[in-house]
Amino acid sequence: MPWIPRGLREGIVTSRYPWRPDDYGPNFRASVTIDNGTATDDELSVAVGACPTRAITVVDTDASLDRGACILCGRCVQMLPQLFQFSSVIETSSNLRARLVVPEPENDGSLAAVRGELANRVKVLRRSVHLRHVDAGSDGSDEWEIAALTNPVYDVQRLGIYFTASPRHADVLLVTGVGSAGMTEPLRRTLEAMPSPKVVIAVGVEAISGGLVGEGYASSGGVGSSIPIDVFIPGSPASPFSLLHGILLAINMLPTNSPRGAHMTDAS
Ligand code: SF4
Repeated sequence: MPWIPRGLREGIVTSRYPWRPDDYGPNFRASVTIDNGTATDDELSVAVGACPTRAITVVDTDASLDRGACILCGRCVQMLPQLFQFSSVIETSSNLRARLVVPEPENDGSLAAVRGELANRVKVLRRSVHLRHVDAGSDGSDEWEIAALTNPVYDVQRLGIYFTASPRHADVLLVTGVGSAGMTEPLRRTLEAMPSPKVVIAVGVEAISGGLVGEGYASSGGVGSSIPIDVFIPGSPASPFSLLHGILLAINMLPTNSPRGAHMTDAS
C-alpha cells in the first residue's frame, strides 16, 4: 500500500481555488497579453501574417489580440516579445465575446447588464449544479482538462458541481469543438432537453471561433452560430483553473471578498 505513506507525506493536495491561490496556479500558460512596447509597421505586419488563426489585428499601428481565436502557439511572443507576452492570469472568461479582445474595449455597461441577467437566471441553482458536456468536433485536448476537474486536485464536487450524463438533469451545457456540421442538431436537441434555467459555456477557442479549423464545409467556426452562449472560456486548451473560473462565473458563484475573487470580478 505505497499510497498510504505517500498520502500522509503529501497531505491535502486539493486546490483551495477560488478562495485561495495555489502555488502552481501561475505555471499555466493561460493567455497572451499586449504590453506597452513598440513595434514598427513592418514588424507588426509580419506578426499578423504569422498568426495561424488571424487573432491579431492592427489598426493605425495599434495592435489588438482576440483571445477567442488565439491558440497560444507563441509565434507572436517569439517575434515581438516587447509587445506580446504570455500571461498566467487564468481569469480570462467573459460573458461577452467582444470582451475577449485585448486591450479590452471600453466598458459601456453591456457586460454588467448581461451578467445581471445571468445572475438572476441562475440564482435558484445554489450549491447543486449539474454539468452536461458535449463534444461538437473537438481535438480532444479540452476534454482532458474537463476530465481533470473531477480528480482530487481540482475536485469540482467540493463546490457542489457535478457532471451528469443526461441533459434532462443538467443546468449547464459545456460545449467543446468547432461546431461540426454533424453535431449542430444534437447540440440543439441537447439544449432543448435541458430544464430551465440553463446556461451554455463555450470551452476553448475551437468552440468560440473554430480555432485552427476556422469556418468551412464541416465546421461552423465555433458553436455560437448553433446555440446561444452565456460564457466564453478561451484557451487552447483551457486549463482546469480557467474552466473553474468560467463555470463559477456562469453560475454567479465567484467570491468577491477574496483577493483572487475581487481580481476575477474585475478581469472577467
Ligand atoms: S500566440 Fe495567439 S496571437 Fe500569437 S501568433 Fe499564436 S495564435 Fe496568434
